[in-house]
Amino acid sequence: MKIFEAAALLRKKSLSPSELIAEVYGKIKEQDGEIKAYISLCNDLKVPDGAADESMLWGIPVAVKDNICTKGIPTTAGSRMLENFVPDYDATVVERLKKSGAVIMGKTNMDEFGMGSDSLCSAFCVTANPVNTLYVPGGSSGGSAAAVRAGMALASLGTDTGGSIRQPAAFCGIYALKPTYSLVSRYGLIAFASSLDCIGPMANCTKDLAIMTDAIAGGDVKDATCSTREKESYYNNIKPEVKNLKIGLPIEFFENADECVRDAVYAMAQRMEGMGARVCECSCKTVKYATGAYYVISSAEASSNLARYDGVRFGYKSKEYDSFRDMCTKSRSEAFGDEVKKRILFGTYVLSAENYSSYYMKAKNAQRMIREELEALLREYDVLLTPVSPSVVPRRDAVKEVGKVCEKDRCTAAVSLAGLPALSIPCSTDENGMPIGAQLIGGRFCEKTLLDVALACEEGGLCNV
Ligand code: GLN
Repeated sequence: MKIFEAAALLRKKSLSPSELIAEVYGKIKEQDGEIKAYISLCNDLKVPDGAADESMLWGIPVAVKDNICTKGIPTTAGSRMLENFVPDYDATVVERLKKSGAVIMGKTNMDEFGMGSDSLCSAFCVTANPVNTLYVPGGSSGGSAAAVRAGMALASLGTDTGGSIRQPAAFCGIYALKPTYSLVSRYGLIAFASSLDCIGPMANCTKDLAIMTDAIAGGDVKDATCSTREKESYYNNIKPEVKNLKIGLPIEFFENADECVRDAVYAMAQRMEGMGARVCECSCKTVKYATGAYYVISSAEASSNLARYDGVRFGYKSKEYDSFRDMCTKSRSEAFGDEVKKRILFGTYVLSAENYSSYYMKAKNAQRMIREELEALLREYDVLLTPVSPSVVPRRDAVKEVGKVCEKDRCTAAVSLAGLPALSIPCSTDENGMPIGAQLIGGRFCEKTLLDVALACEEGGLCNV
């Protein structure tokens, strides 16, 4: 069920919040043994105070990724390091969801600290794709995508550093928005790469993304990087609109894409043209640097952010050690997974005095070039249309290199490096019936344009997969 439909029923009182919560809870009990979207479930699922006509989210069951702090509820970031961490405060986004009357059902599975693309790097469980459980749900917000797809939440929060909201949404055939960097507060988000990390909504339709964005966006004194610009109202102003908009297809985003992915996104472009959009191919040459630059910058920041897990102040502490140094080494060796260790080593290497200018500085330069080129394109085009992932959804048993950042991340990582907003919408299916997603990229703070175009596609039947 969609949020805006459920909200209408709640207002008319033809559905009560406790019935809705019980229904969704039933779906979890029925399916989550197999799907494993949740790491933990909330115990006291209460009907919130207030009333349905005060907020579109009142009484709506939602899920939250397990790297977003929830007061009194374990928050693990998918890591043994934080297995027993119970925050004594809510992240700003959680506080805002609660204030809107949303009901948090539980915390969703993820690749450890957000590092991975398949949800195979969690320390706790492996999530399956509800469309077909032999396939991965994508990652790192795989649990958040799977929960929505399987009806185990009406919407969820994911986090995206280089594609982790958009790619799992594409793999599970749902809708998701990575907002402009700084639109949503990161207070209470367990950091991976602070200059790229964004929290955003995942849902069953475009209107629900607008409702969720309304609830979580806006300035926050607790996050100095959070924008103080005036808050927009997305849901009240959303309208299907693609006519006369200029849509660019940057051809380099399609290079080495699977043929069916390329065909599906081009077919969508053609249908947008049929609806009155002006569609042209364009070029974004710097996207070839996106994967490399993303890997260097995100790992560099991760190596610094994850230095706080030393066995003293946060998280896991080894049982046996003979010195302070030994305790730090053992705690980190025992509690971090392989992918996290690899990135800490790599990030420390690229930041070291002798390598800084050959890697980190170069990556920052590449980032600037990518940002400038995408921003220039977005002065010419209203929206850019690309694949989310150049490849189709892999089977779980076919993923060889678990967690590794690779060329498959380039379409989403380029947008993250530029700090721009991007929306993932279902676009078609491959020969195995697995979803293929399209990415709409907009100018800085142009979330409204993205939502309008996505709604036009959805209502025009372009997303019926
Ligand atoms: N797959 C990418 C990585 O492993 C992106 C992850 C993310 O956005 N959190 O780094």
